[in-house]
Amino acid sequence: MNDVFFMREALKLAEKAADVGEVPVGAVVVKTNEKQGFSDPDSDMKEETNVKDTLDYSGRIVGRGFNMRETNRNSVHHAEILAIEDACKALGGWRLQGCVLYVTLEPCPMCAGAIINSRLDRVVYGAKDLKAGSCGSIVNLFDLPYNHKPEITVGIIKNECEEIMSKFFKKLRDKEKDGIMKLIPAVTDEQIKNVSELADLIWHEFFPSVISGGQIDFMIDKFQSVPAITEQIRNLGYNYYIMHKNGGYIGYCAVNPQNNGRLFLSKLYIKKEFRGQGYARKTFMFLKDFCINNNFRRIWLTVNKNNTQTIEVYKKLGFRITGEGVTDIGGGYVMDDYYMELELRQ
Ligand SMILES: [Zn+2]
Repeated sequence: MNDVFFMREALKLAEKAADVGEVPVGAVVVKTNEKQGFSDPDSDMKEETNVKDTLDYSGRIVGRGFNMRETNRNSVHHAEILAIEDACKALGGWRLQGCVLYVTLEPCPMCAGAIINSRLDRVVYGAKDLKAGSCGSIVNLFDLPYNHKPEITVGIIKNECEEIMSKFFKKLRDKEKDGIMKLIPAVTDEQIKNVSELADLIWHEFFPSVISGGQIDFMIDKFQSVPAITEQIRNLGYNYYIMHKNGGYIGYCAVNPQNNGRLFLSKLYIKKEFRGQGYARKTFMFLKDFCINNNFRRIWLTVNKNNTQTIEVYKKLGFRITGEGVTDIGGGYVMDDYYMELELRQ
Protein backbone atom coordinates (compact mmCIF):
# COMPACT_ATOMS: atom_id res chain seq x y z
CA MET A 1 0.00 0.00 0.00
CA ASN A 2 2.69 2.52 0.99
CA ASP A 3 4.91 1.48 -1.86
CA VAL A 4 2.13 1.93 -4.41
CA PHE A 5 1.22 5.32 -3.00
CA PHE A 6 4.77 6.68 -3.12
CA MET A 7 5.48 5.15 -6.51
CA ARG A 8 2.47 7.03 -7.85
CA GLU A 9 4.04 10.22 -6.51
CA ALA A 10 7.21 9.36 -8.39
CA LEU A 11 5.15 8.67 -11.50
CA LYS A 12 3.56 12.13 -11.27
CA LEU A 13 7.06 13.60 -11.36
CA ALA A 14 7.93 11.41 -14.34
CA GLU A 15 4.97 12.95 -16.14
CA LYS A 16 6.39 16.40 -15.44
CA ALA A 17 9.62 15.29 -17.05
CA ALA A 18 7.72 14.11 -20.12
CA ASP A 19 5.93 17.48 -20.29
CA VAL A 20 9.23 19.26 -20.79
CA GLY A 21 10.52 16.69 -23.26
CA GLU A 22 12.76 14.78 -20.86
CA VAL A 23 12.91 11.00 -20.69
CA PRO A 24 10.18 10.46 -18.09
CA VAL A 25 11.77 9.26 -14.89
CA GLY A 26 10.57 10.50 -11.51
CA ALA A 27 11.80 9.84 -7.98
CA VAL A 28 10.85 10.63 -4.40
CA VAL A 29 12.76 10.10 -1.19
CA VAL A 30 10.53 9.09 1.68
CA LYS A 31 11.53 9.31 5.29
CA THR A 32 9.96 6.34 7.02
CA ASN A 33 11.38 6.55 10.48
CA GLU A 34 10.73 9.74 12.39
CA LYS A 35 13.01 8.74 15.23
CA GLN A 36 16.34 8.99 13.41
CA GLY A 37 17.06 12.48 14.65
CA PHE A 38 16.76 14.56 11.47
CA SER A 39 15.57 18.14 11.62
CA ASP A 40 12.04 18.56 10.30
CA PRO A 41 11.75 21.07 7.48
CA ASP A 42 8.68 23.30 7.71
CA SER A 43 8.19 23.10 3.96
CA ASP A 44 6.99 19.55 4.18
CA MET A 45 4.32 20.10 6.81
CA LYS A 46 1.60 20.63 4.26
CA GLU A 47 2.40 17.39 2.48
CA GLU A 48 2.41 15.51 5.74
CA THR A 49 -0.98 16.85 6.79
CA ASN A 50 -2.58 16.16 3.43
CA VAL A 51 -1.36 12.63 3.21
CA LYS A 52 -2.14 11.78 6.77
CA ASP A 53 -5.69 12.97 6.28
CA THR A 54 -6.31 10.57 3.45
CA LEU A 55 -4.04 7.61 3.96
CA ASP A 56 -2.86 5.31 6.62
CA TYR A 57 0.88 5.13 6.12
CA SER A 58 4.12 5.85 7.83
CA GLY A 59 6.55 8.14 6.08
CA ARG A 60 6.62 11.42 4.29
CA ILE A 61 8.22 12.74 1.15
CA VAL A 62 11.39 14.70 1.87
CA GLY A 63 12.87 14.82 -1.63
CA ARG A 64 11.57 15.03 -5.17
CA GLY A 65 13.24 14.90 -8.53
CA PHE A 66 12.64 14.20 -12.17
CA ASN A 67 15.06 13.76 -15.01
CA MET A 68 16.38 17.19 -16.13
CA ARG A 69 19.34 16.15 -18.22
CA GLU A 70 18.30 18.03 -21.37
CA THR A 71 16.81 21.09 -19.67
CA ASN A 72 19.79 21.62 -17.40
CA ARG A 73 22.30 20.39 -19.99
CA ASN A 74 23.79 18.26 -17.30
CA SER A 75 24.60 14.57 -17.65
CA VAL A 76 24.26 13.84 -13.93
CA HIS A 77 20.83 15.42 -13.43
CA HIS A 78 18.92 12.14 -13.21
CA ALA A 79 15.71 11.96 -11.18
CA GLU A 80 17.35 10.02 -8.33
CA ILE A 81 20.27 12.45 -7.96
CA LEU A 82 17.95 15.45 -7.83
CA ALA A 83 15.62 13.73 -5.34
CA ILE A 84 18.58 12.78 -3.14
CA GLU A 85 19.91 16.36 -3.29
CA ASP A 86 16.48 17.66 -2.39
CA ALA A 87 16.25 15.24 0.55
CA CYS A 88 19.73 16.15 1.85
CA LYS A 89 18.73 19.81 1.78
CA ALA A 90 15.45 19.11 3.53
CA LEU A 91 16.99 16.94 6.20
CA GLY A 92 20.15 18.98 6.63
CA GLY A 93 22.60 16.13 6.17
CA TRP A 94 24.01 13.64 3.69
CA ARG A 95 23.02 10.46 5.51
CA LEU A 96 19.58 9.35 4.39
CA GLN A 97 19.29 6.50 6.84
CA GLY A 98 15.67 5.73 7.56
CA CYS A 99 14.75 6.80 4.03
CA VAL A 100 13.46 4.93 0.99
CA LEU A 101 13.94 6.03 -2.62
CA TYR A 102 11.06 5.41 -5.01
CA VAL A 103 11.92 5.70 -8.68
CA THR A 104 9.90 4.78 -11.75
CA LEU A 105 12.88 3.26 -13.61
CA GLU A 106 15.69 1.03 -12.39
CA PRO A 107 18.65 3.20 -11.33
CA CYS A 108 21.74 3.47 -13.52
CA PRO A 109 25.23 2.81 -12.05
CA MET A 110 25.71 6.47 -11.14
CA CYS A 111 22.42 6.63 -9.26
CA ALA A 112 22.94 3.24 -7.64
CA GLY A 113 26.29 4.61 -6.44
CA ALA A 114 24.60 7.72 -5.10
CA ILE A 115 22.09 5.50 -3.29
CA ILE A 116 24.91 3.59 -1.62
CA ASN A 117 26.73 6.82 -0.76
CA SER A 118 23.67 8.39 0.81
CA ARG A 119 22.99 5.30 2.93
CA LEU A 120 19.40 4.92 1.82
CA ASP A 121 17.74 1.95 3.52
CA ARG A 122 15.80 0.74 0.55
CA VAL A 123 15.18 1.33 -3.15
CA VAL A 124 11.85 0.68 -4.81
CA TYR A 125 11.64 0.83 -8.58
CA GLY A 126 8.93 0.22 -11.16
CA ALA A 127 10.27 -0.66 -14.59
CA LYS A 128 13.46 -2.50 -15.37
CA ASP A 129 16.09 -0.76 -17.48
CA LEU A 130 17.73 -3.42 -19.60
CA LYS A 131 20.23 -0.94 -21.07
CA ALA A 132 21.61 0.72 -17.95
CA GLY A 133 19.89 -0.76 -14.92
CA SER A 134 22.38 -1.48 -12.18
CA CYS A 135 20.04 -2.84 -9.53
CA GLY A 136 19.48 -6.21 -11.14
CA SER A 137 19.38 -5.88 -14.94
CA ILE A 138 23.00 -5.49 -15.99
CA VAL A 139 24.50 -5.81 -12.56
CA ASN A 140 23.24 -5.55 -9.05
CA LEU A 141 25.62 -3.12 -7.37
CA PHE A 142 23.89 -3.74 -4.07
CA ASP A 143 25.11 -7.36 -4.17
CA LEU A 144 28.74 -6.28 -4.32
CA PRO A 145 30.72 -5.93 -1.11
CA TYR A 146 30.34 -2.18 -0.63
CA ASN A 147 30.06 -0.82 2.87
CA HIS A 148 26.32 -0.33 2.55
CA LYS A 149 23.62 -2.62 1.14
CA PRO A 150 20.24 -1.09 0.43
CA GLU A 151 17.27 -3.43 0.11
CA ILE A 152 15.54 -3.59 -3.26
CA THR A 153 11.87 -3.94 -4.14
CA VAL A 154 11.12 -4.34 -7.84
CA GLY A 155 8.04 -4.00 -10.01
CA ILE A 156 5.74 -1.70 -8.04
CA ILE A 157 3.05 -0.51 -10.50
CA LYS A 158 5.41 -1.81 -13.13
CA ASN A 159 2.95 -1.51 -16.02
CA GLU A 160 2.35 2.21 -15.53
CA CYS A 161 6.06 2.83 -15.13
CA GLU A 162 6.79 0.95 -18.35
CA GLU A 163 3.94 2.59 -20.20
CA ILE A 164 5.07 6.15 -19.53
CA MET A 165 8.45 5.27 -21.04
CA SER A 166 7.12 3.47 -24.10
CA LYS A 167 4.60 6.24 -24.77
CA PHE A 168 7.32 8.87 -24.56
CA PHE A 169 9.60 7.07 -27.01
CA LYS A 170 6.77 6.31 -29.41
CA LYS A 171 5.80 9.98 -29.46
CA LEU A 172 9.40 10.93 -30.08
CA ARG A 173 9.66 8.50 -32.99
CA ASP A 174 6.39 9.72 -34.49
CA LYS A 175 7.55 13.31 -34.21
CA GLU A 176 10.81 12.48 -35.92
CA LYS A 177 9.05 10.62 -38.67
CA ASP A 178 6.67 13.49 -39.18
CA GLY A 179 8.52 16.69 -38.55
CA ILE A 180 12.07 16.66 -39.76
CA MET A 181 13.01 18.22 -43.05
CA LYS A 182 16.42 17.27 -44.36
CA LEU A 183 18.49 18.95 -47.03
CA ILE A 184 20.24 16.38 -49.17
CA PRO A 185 22.89 17.49 -51.69
CA ALA A 186 21.91 16.71 -55.27
CA VAL A 187 24.89 15.09 -56.95
CA THR A 188 23.81 11.97 -58.83
CA ASP A 189 22.05 12.00 -62.21
CA GLU A 190 18.92 10.68 -60.50
CA GLN A 191 18.97 13.52 -57.94
CA ILE A 192 19.52 16.12 -60.66
CA LYS A 193 16.53 14.69 -62.51
CA ASN A 194 14.50 15.04 -59.30
CA VAL A 195 15.48 18.70 -58.99
CA SER A 196 14.57 19.38 -62.60
CA GLU A 197 11.14 17.78 -62.10
CA LEU A 198 10.57 19.78 -58.93
CA ALA A 199 11.50 22.99 -60.78
CA ASP A 200 9.11 22.20 -63.61
CA LEU A 201 6.28 21.56 -61.16
CA ILE A 202 6.86 24.49 -58.84
CA TRP A 203 7.72 27.12 -61.44
CA HIS A 204 4.60 26.40 -63.52
CA GLU A 205 2.48 26.66 -60.39
CA PHE A 206 4.17 29.70 -58.88
CA PHE A 207 5.40 32.02 -61.63
CA PRO A 208 2.32 32.69 -63.83
CA SER A 209 1.51 35.68 -61.60
CA VAL A 210 5.04 37.06 -62.11
CA ILE A 211 6.16 36.22 -65.66
CA SER A 212 4.56 34.90 -68.84
CA GLY A 213 4.08 31.18 -69.57
CA GLY A 214 6.48 31.50 -72.52
CA GLN A 215 9.16 32.94 -70.30
CA ILE A 216 8.66 30.18 -67.69
CA ASP A 217 9.20 27.49 -70.33
CA PHE A 218 12.20 29.32 -71.73
CA MET A 219 13.79 29.78 -68.32
CA ILE A 220 13.21 26.19 -67.19
CA ASP A 221 14.83 24.93 -70.35
CA LYS A 222 17.75 27.33 -70.00
CA PHE A 223 18.36 27.08 -66.22
CA GLN A 224 16.51 24.09 -64.77
CA SER A 225 16.71 21.34 -67.37
CA VAL A 226 18.80 18.28 -66.51
CA PRO A 227 21.72 19.42 -68.74
CA ALA A 228 21.57 22.97 -67.35
CA ILE A 229 21.62 21.84 -63.71
CA THR A 230 24.32 19.27 -64.43
CA GLU A 231 26.47 22.01 -65.99
CA GLN A 232 25.90 24.32 -62.98
CA ILE A 233 26.86 21.60 -60.50
CA ARG A 234 29.75 20.00 -62.36
CA ASN A 235 31.35 23.08 -63.94
CA LEU A 236 30.08 26.28 -62.38
CA GLY A 237 30.47 25.55 -58.66
CA TYR A 238 26.79 25.41 -57.74
CA ASN A 239 25.47 23.30 -54.88
CA TYR A 240 21.92 22.02 -55.16
CA TYR A 241 20.02 20.65 -52.18
CA ILE A 242 16.75 18.75 -52.21
CA MET A 243 14.41 19.21 -49.24
CA HIS A 244 13.28 15.80 -48.06
CA LYS A 245 10.42 15.17 -45.69
CA ASN A 246 8.69 11.87 -44.91
CA GLY A 247 10.60 10.28 -47.75
CA GLY A 248 9.18 12.77 -50.29
CA TYR A 249 10.55 15.90 -51.94
CA ILE A 250 9.09 19.21 -50.84
CA GLY A 251 11.40 21.69 -52.53
CA TYR A 252 14.97 22.55 -53.41
CA CYS A 253 17.57 25.25 -53.21
CA ALA A 254 20.78 26.12 -55.02
CA VAL A 255 23.71 28.21 -53.92
CA ASN A 256 26.92 29.39 -55.51
CA PRO A 257 29.77 30.19 -53.12
CA GLN A 258 31.69 33.15 -54.55
CA ASN A 259 35.26 34.30 -54.03
CA ASN A 260 34.35 37.62 -52.48
CA GLY A 261 33.03 36.05 -49.27
CA ARG A 262 29.46 36.09 -50.51
CA LEU A 263 27.10 33.18 -50.99
CA PHE A 264 24.79 33.61 -53.97
CA LEU A 265 21.40 32.05 -53.27
CA SER A 266 20.37 31.12 -56.76
CA LYS A 267 17.20 29.12 -56.11
CA LEU A 268 14.84 28.45 -53.25
CA TYR A 269 11.54 26.88 -54.17
CA ILE A 270 9.05 25.01 -52.03
CA LYS A 271 5.97 23.13 -53.20
CA LYS A 272 2.73 25.02 -52.64
CA GLU A 273 1.35 22.70 -49.95
CA PHE A 274 4.50 23.06 -47.87
CA ARG A 275 4.84 26.85 -47.93
CA GLY A 276 4.32 28.95 -44.83
CA GLN A 277 5.39 26.12 -42.51
CA GLY A 278 8.86 27.30 -41.63
CA TYR A 279 10.81 25.31 -44.23
CA ALA A 280 12.29 28.40 -45.85
CA ARG A 281 13.48 29.52 -42.43
CA LYS A 282 14.94 26.07 -41.74
CA THR A 283 16.74 26.18 -45.05
CA PHE A 284 18.16 29.57 -44.12
CA MET A 285 19.45 28.20 -40.84
CA PHE A 286 21.21 25.53 -42.85
CA LEU A 287 22.65 28.14 -45.23
CA LYS A 288 23.79 30.35 -42.37
CA ASP A 289 25.64 27.39 -40.87
CA PHE A 290 27.18 26.77 -44.26
CA CYS A 291 28.32 30.43 -44.36
CA ILE A 292 29.74 30.38 -40.87
CA ASN A 293 31.65 27.16 -41.54
CA ASN A 294 33.06 28.56 -44.78
CA ASN A 295 33.67 32.15 -43.70
CA PHE A 296 31.03 33.73 -45.89
CA ARG A 297 29.73 36.98 -44.48
CA ARG A 298 26.86 37.70 -46.84
CA ILE A 299 24.08 35.88 -48.64
CA TRP A 300 22.74 37.64 -51.71
CA LEU A 301 20.10 36.91 -54.32
CA THR A 302 18.10 38.38 -57.15
CA VAL A 303 14.33 38.43 -57.15
CA ASN A 304 11.85 39.53 -59.82
CA LYS A 305 10.38 42.94 -58.96
CA ASN A 306 6.86 41.58 -59.46
CA ASN A 307 7.47 38.68 -57.11
CA THR A 308 6.14 40.64 -54.12
CA GLN A 309 5.26 37.57 -52.06
CA THR A 310 8.83 36.28 -52.15
CA ILE A 311 10.31 39.73 -51.53
CA GLU A 312 8.29 39.89 -48.32
CA VAL A 313 9.54 36.46 -47.23
CA TYR A 314 13.14 37.52 -47.76
CA LYS A 315 12.58 40.78 -45.88
CA LYS A 316 11.24 38.80 -42.94
CA LEU A 317 14.37 36.68 -43.05
CA GLY A 318 16.48 39.83 -42.69
CA PHE A 319 17.35 40.64 -46.31
CA ARG A 320 17.34 44.21 -47.58
CA ILE A 321 17.23 45.53 -51.12
CA THR A 322 20.67 46.74 -52.20
CA GLY A 323 20.11 47.44 -55.88
CA GLU A 324 18.24 46.57 -59.03
CA GLY A 325 18.98 45.63 -62.60
CA VAL A 326 17.62 44.32 -65.89
CA THR A 327 19.33 41.28 -67.37
CA ASP A 328 18.86 40.03 -70.92
CA ILE A 329 18.51 36.24 -70.73
CA GLY A 330 17.99 35.68 -74.45
CA GLY A 331 14.93 34.53 -76.36
CA GLY A 332 13.61 38.08 -76.19
CA TYR A 333 13.20 37.86 -72.41
CA VAL A 334 14.66 39.96 -69.63
CA MET A 335 14.81 39.59 -65.88
CA ASP A 336 13.82 42.76 -64.07
CA ASP A 337 15.19 42.15 -60.60
CA TYR A 338 15.94 43.57 -57.21
CA TYR A 339 19.20 42.55 -55.59
CA MET A 340 18.82 41.64 -51.95
CA GLU A 341 21.43 40.92 -49.37
CA LEU A 342 21.64 39.51 -45.87
CA GLU A 343 24.61 40.41 -43.74
CA LEU A 344 25.53 37.72 -41.23
CA ARG A 345 26.54 38.75 -37.77
CA GLN A 346 29.60 37.06 -36.37
ZN1 LIG B 1 20.73 7.46 -13.06
